[in-house]
Amino acid sequence: MKNINIAIDGPAGAGKSTIAKMVSARLGYIYVDTGALYRTIALYLTENDIADEDIESALENADVSLRFIDGVQRVFLRDRDVSDFIRTPEISMAASRTSAIPAVRKYLFGTQQKIAAENNVIMDGRDIGTVVLPNADVKIFLTASAEERANRRYKELSEKPGCPTYQEILDDIIRRDYQDMHRETAPLKQAEDAVLLDTTTLDLEQSAQAIIDIINEKLGGGNE
Ligand code: C5P
Repeated sequence: MKNINIAIDGPAGAGKSTIAKMVSARLGYIYVDTGALYRTIALYLTENDIADEDIESALENADVSLRFIDGVQRVFLRDRDVSDFIRTPEISMAASRTSAIPAVRKYLFGTQQKIAAENNVIMDGRDIGTVVLPNADVKIFLTASAEERANRRYKELSEKPGCPTYQEILDDIIRRDYQDMHRETAPLKQAEDAVLLDTTTLDLEQSAQAIIDIINEKLGGGNE
């Protein structure tokens, strides 16, 4: 039987990963965070100080893979689990920049398609519904206002030392949105057949339920 593929795309900080994790746990699907792949490539290129013109050949030795340990995604650079090193603001910006390079997108394309072919997945990213899984069973474009996304991120970070200001976070989000939407290869945009879900006024539980309702409607199932 064909596996079910659910694509969730949207801008940074819309809550894609948190919400997709909640929904996939309820449906028993694997959650695939494709941003982690782009972040790992950015880490690899930064650590090895690779110039833009050498990226294509350097990728041959990158060896990035996803492994699922007790159903939870971990990302590896060769045999090194880098899942906890790729969440810094520096890597976020570097990933947004290097993900615009066609060779990087080409390199990660097959990895993403293979996981989706072999499993029931909820896969989140920027171009899943448009490029990676154009035949996904369900496509959702998840968004929220830039101010609300900055607000959520600020709340999340405000207890940690060295927290950036709200304005710095907002500026970062706006810059990343711009970069992701205006690149030539696989820009962030809503697929024509995607359902738009704006979570500006929804909490996490309401957002997760809204996604389950969309999935049920599309698949005609009774998944909660
Ligand atoms: O989703 P996350 O913020 O972790 O992604 C980091 C960066 O990777 C994004 O800003 C985006 O530029 C890039 N990305 C992408 N395509 C995807 C997932 C992420 O270009 N499918």
